[in-house]
Amino acid sequence: MKVALHACCGPCLIEPLDALTERHEVVVVFANPNIQPAEEYGLRRDTLREWAERHGLDIVEAAYDPDAWEEIVEGVRDEPLLRCPRCYALRLQQVAAEAVRLGCDALTTTLSVSPYQDAGAIDETGNRVASEHGLVWLFEDYRPHYPEATRRSREAGMYRQNYCGCLPSKAEAEEARALRRAQRRSR
Ligand code: SF4
Repeated sequence: MKVALHACCGPCLIEPLDALTERHEVVVVFANPNIQPAEEYGLRRDTLREWAERHGLDIVEAAYDPDAWEEIVEGVRDEPLLRCPRCYALRLQQVAAEAVRLGCDALTTTLSVSPYQDAGAIDETGNRVASEHGLVWLFEDYRPHYPEATRRSREAGMYRQNYCGCLPSKAEAEEARALRRAQRRSR
């Protein structure tokens, strides 16, 4: 099959790409309007591009439209349980549109590499989006690959972000780090 693989970032791409290219023709699509600020978006995209160039791989980049992300999370911006499924849907819809344009048969994502994501919501959302676009949804829970993805991306010298992508997640991650520092100091 020809598979459109949504890449959320370079480090998370490495392991799913290996697994999928054993069985399929793979088109990698970077579709992440959730990432803010724009400098961070550029950094993650260029990290992916540089790694891809070294491996002779082409990357399709979907439109970067952070306003579209802000619109779909309106009213739930500070509620990750409601916000994240909408974010997955927006990104997978962008990838599905590219998949149809490029004549792909199937859709999948690297999002499930991260143990910080909701694998169930990714699967449910991807299934719906794929079916709306006449595509096969090829979900795999890649969380067991996370340690190897971490090791390989470090070895490759890739930039590794310390928050998921949106501005609320940046604030939440900073808050969690501050809390851990305070807990360490109080021991
Ligand atoms: S935390 Fe991550 S998945 Fe959730 S809305 Fe923000 S960028 Fe999207």
